[in-house]
Amino acid sequence: MNILIEGGYVVDAEGMIKDGAVVIEGNRIVYVGDRDEVKRHFPRGYLKIDAKDKIILPGLINGHTHIAMTLLRGYADDLRLQEWLENWIWPYEAKMSPLDIELGALLGSVESLLSGVTTVCSMYHYHREHNEASAAIKVGQRIVMGVAMFYWDEEGSIKRVEDALKHWHGRDELVRVSVSPHAPYTVSPNLWVVAEETRKNWEEESGIPVTITSHIVEDWNEPDLVKERFNVEVPNRSIYMYLDDLGVVSNRLVAAHSIHMNEYDYEVVSKRGAHVIHNPVANLKLGMGVANVPKMLDKGINVGLGTDGPASNNTLDMFETMKINALLHKGVNRDPTLVSARESFKMATINNALALGYHDLGLLKEGYLADILIMDYKRPNTIPLYNVYSHLVYAVRPENIDTVIVNGEVVVEKGVIKGIDVGDLIKRVSHRAYEIAREVGG
Ligand SMILES: [Zn+2]
Repeated sequence: MNILIEGGYVVDAEGMIKDGAVVIEGNRIVYVGDRDEVKRHFPRGYLKIDAKDKIILPGLINGHTHIAMTLLRGYADDLRLQEWLENWIWPYEAKMSPLDIELGALLGSVESLLSGVTTVCSMYHYHREHNEASAAIKVGQRIVMGVAMFYWDEEGSIKRVEDALKHWHGRDELVRVSVSPHAPYTVSPNLWVVAEETRKNWEEESGIPVTITSHIVEDWNEPDLVKERFNVEVPNRSIYMYLDDLGVVSNRLVAAHSIHMNEYDYEVVSKRGAHVIHNPVANLKLGMGVANVPKMLDKGINVGLGTDGPASNNTLDMFETMKINALLHKGVNRDPTLVSARESFKMATINNALALGYHDLGLLKEGYLADILIMDYKRPNTIPLYNVYSHLVYAVRPENIDTVIVNGEVVVEKGVIKGIDVGDLIKRVSHRAYEIAREVGG
């Protein structure tokens, strides 16, 4: 569909146009500029969207989540990471069928799309027919689907990753697959090497970027866990050095968390151009500590933002994450100049796009993919408007969203998602979630 959005503030991390316009042809942006200019160049044949009194911005990208885990939202809170994972999350997940994964992911995609997230990078268990990508396609959301790999099922992990790449990577314009070794303490050195080889081979074969997505140094004792479990030395207690020796650290590595980095870690990440996804809400909730984002940014590391899963957050709200990100580092460092609103917005848009290997996403620019939000600012919570970036990070709520466009298609109109019976979905999720909890004995 060809769309002409006119009026309002057109804003991305690189700048802003007042009284601007954006023109979409097919799934790409073909014009961004002045509202008066647009009428001369694109006179007719376009669906017109009046965006007067609105802000037009690139769709937000959730750089790290486990979107199917909406089923576990609020199931186990206020626990330490290992206890939370081993005694609560993993036993529940063992009872989830492929249909449950798709059901949870459907709710996650609906929730996040309604809150302005047009792309998610998720990591979860995979089944060929029913998975996070099949859910995302139904809802009309862009997804990088990570297929999780673990040391206790190496053969199965490799098979599932290969299967996902073969059947889903680039099959739909909305879907890419990433290879997801879960974490250094749950993935053997050999499996890391296989994961990287698989990634490289499929990137070459498909011509579409394939990333490695993982959780790295979320916990402070990862070097000890790796040594205990796999009987290998971690040089200088640097997990990134250890992974670099295995050949895994490159500009295709997208590492969630990276809280407990030492000087060696910073050096490896900078040198290799690896990307970090900061998840401030989940890190705070699980008491994991605070990643030194200002230091990473100073060192030129590309840092994106994510919510992490809805079991450790417990929402998929990227506006909340942008705000907490901007506040957290000011508070911890007693310096209100750190991580500005505009920086936080940049992390949730263009930085995440680059981390995920998209060079045509995250900005409103000619030739870029048409993933766009239109937000209403004439609301009690966003008036007056002095500074758009300030509002987008500190004041806006998902309720300000009017329209969401993904890949050139309008998927949310006047705050309502198209083609999905949300009431029915809520019923189905509630029913199934309690049923599983009963089976586990929770
Ligand atoms: Zn995670």
